[in-house]
Amino acid sequence: MSSDNFLLDVKELRKYFPVRKGILRRVVAQVKAVDNVDLAIKEGETLGLVGESGSGKTTAGRAILRLIEPTSGKMMFRSKALAGTGKDYEEIDIASATRRKLKLLRRDMQIIFQDPYSSLNPRMTVGSIVGEPLLVHKIARGKERESRVRELLASVGLKPDHMKRYPHEFSGGQRQRIGVARALALDPQLIIADEPVSALDVSIQAQVLNMLEDLQQEFGLTYLFIAHDLSVVKHISDRVAVMYLGRIVELCATEKLFNHPKHPYTEALMSAVPVPDPDYEVERILLEGDVPSPVNPPSGCHFHPRCQYAKEICKKEAPEKRDLGGEHFCVCHLADTLSLAPVRLQ
Ligand code: SF4
Repeated sequence: MSSDNFLLDVKELRKYFPVRKGILRRVVAQVKAVDNVDLAIKEGETLGLVGESGSGKTTAGRAILRLIEPTSGKMMFRSKALAGTGKDYEEIDIASATRRKLKLLRRDMQIIFQDPYSSLNPRMTVGSIVGEPLLVHKIARGKERESRVRELLASVGLKPDHMKRYPHEFSGGQRQRIGVARALALDPQLIIADEPVSALDVSIQAQVLNMLEDLQQEFGLTYLFIAHDLSVVKHISDRVAVMYLGRIVELCATEKLFNHPKHPYTEALMSAVPVPDPDYEVERILLEGDVPSPVNPPSGCHFHPRCQYAKEICKKEAPEKRDLGGEHFCVCHLADTLSLAPVRLQ
């Protein structure tokens, strides 16, 4: 991908957690939760990041925001909040940003958490929760802050009188709306949505997804949308990155991914996507076992113990990232030869 129009360009991101043992707490191994991840997100697009639980997608999202410190990597971001005079933006490496710059960067990059129940302080009113970032960043106080909170609540479909209520008085979907309003308070450029609808009923999921799409149009937002379920990202994402055991194994435009998947892991994830057409039969691919431990990953291709197409070479040699053309990348020895089952997009 050309780096001309990126908002965020992540290169070789790693997050290792040391495993310590004994009285001296010596490091005996490393959990490679995120291992050499490259991701570039264009301004105004939604990039879906998908994988099973334990694939490292949430850790990657948090490392990008530096909510946890990355072990290594470069994360170039075009920040409006840091723009100097005469420039629309400043390019900054999030990984090496000072604390002061990081605080300013927080205006540009926000997160929506998975669990709308635990991510809101139960002792604060909705008005205080949504308006808190405005206070912390000294952007608005008093009446000005109150009116901004009203606007934010309206933009997520809540009423002004909801300001005085507490989170427990709201349904799951409404709480997620409050979380979105808080994320919008500082007028961010990038929102990392970490499984924002997984904890909600299916009927509510569609409403929240539609709202996120509307807000993207209205405020020109860019999303990194993390999910374990391809059916959730297929409508909202322009491109999808599939993650397995800390690595991106396939990345391309959403439609291409569903019509021409090239990685066996993508095929397996897609076979689980429900298709609302009784005449359309999909052969479900059962992935045996859990994601292997990132402390001691399998040799060669990490996916080989679960891959129905694995050959001898897969056990011995780790596949390289291959450019299949048209911004389609795949990490598989057999990417050129396999003919995998597509899933019809509805
Ligand atoms: Fe399967 Fe081999 Fe491709 Fe890995 S490299 S996904 S084991 S075919």
